[in-house]
Amino acid sequence: MKKNKIIFFLLSFLLIFSLAFSFNNFQKKSSKLNEDAIYNPNSSSKNLIVHYIDVGQGDSELIQIPGNINILIDGGPKSSSDKVVLYIKSLGIDKLNIVISTHPHEDHIGGLVSVINSFKVDNVIDTGVNHTSATFKEYLKAVKAKNINYLTPSPGESFDLGTNVKLIVCGPYKRYNSDLNNSSVVVKLIYGSTSFLFEGDAESKEESQLISGGIELSATVLKVGHHGSKTSSTLKFLKKVNPKISVISVGKGNSYGHPAKTTIDNLLSLGSSVYMTDTEGDIIIESDGSDVNVTRGSPYIPGSSSTTTTSGSGQTTTTMGSEETTTTQASNALFVGSKKSDVYHYPNCGSAKSIKPENLITFNSVEEAKSAGYRPCKKCNPPG
Ligand SMILES: [Zn+2]
Ligand SMILES: [Zn+2]
Repeated sequence: MKKNKIIFFLLSFLLIFSLAFSFNNFQKKSSKLNEDAIYNPNSSSKNLIVHYIDVGQGDSELIQIPGNINILIDGGPKSSSDKVVLYIKSLGIDKLNIVISTHPHEDHIGGLVSVINSFKVDNVIDTGVNHTSATFKEYLKAVKAKNINYLTPSPGESFDLGTNVKLIVCGPYKRYNSDLNNSSVVVKLIYGSTSFLFEGDAESKEESQLISGGIELSATVLKVGHHGSKTSSTLKFLKKVNPKISVISVGKGNSYGHPAKTTIDNLLSLGSSVYMTDTEGDIIIESDGSDVNVTRGSPYIPGSSSTTTTSGSGQTTTTMGSEETTTTQASNALFVGSKKSDVYHYPNCGSAKSIKPENLITFNSVEEAKSAGYRPCKKCNPPG
């Protein structure tokens, strides 16, 4: 009996130690990182920045945490691999501390294979359900080939990711091989008094498990479940989250009829402002630990058609509380330039942001930019 107890304590100690060890590298900066050589507009930022990348019909969210800690939740479908990889590179990021694969559907993991092969990845958090698709096998193969620390955490587990930043695993409570959406990894990221909840493709079944589970679900910003489908976002769940801002990641003209009008109506009825990637392209939300600001994208205006296309350029002003942020960017273009110069940039480049709306032009490929007589920016270093 005594011996068993000792073994039990030893094993528990080992488990705790190994968990602590695998995550303590979040606190460290890479010794190889030459920050002078890398253009990272956010490296000195105290803001936590969440990019809801427009991947068409799918999901991909990049989170930049102060201290150069980066998390990617899902990688969109395979067709958006290049976009996601270029987007991350354009921010000067070469390492992802955590990649979260919410569930094995192609519109979430298709792009992760390229991501895993293009960046140093420290940890993969996975739902732990099996799937037989070729894409899922390819993804697992990439994780194994790079010998990445692979975790399937349970609800309630949390990870400290620097000063005032915590990642809490909220779900899944159950893992269904035949119901992947309701097996989605659901996480909540807390920064100071602000928080972001990411639902993956969780539907009403997982939403009610999340409520019963008892983990505090309230969040400033919600990444709405399953592309705004009517099978998710029950009013009961949304009331628990009570998001000030909601983001729906959804493809323009998708064949599923996403997002559902009921989802949008439910969110609006709770006073949440709703942002959608199909009309806005990439959406960027920043938190300073006490307030959140949407720095890219405009909210859905009730009464306007959700299929309205934004012009792709121009100035949008978003007012959130007392603060006002102005962005001048192209929503969907891969590269941007100014009519007054011959340089093309990634849309996130600091120089690109200073281009006046009336001078802004967009390119969807390197060829397009080059044939217009433009050359790559030396600061953000796009391909070309
Ligand atoms: Zn999906
Ligand atoms: Zn799914």
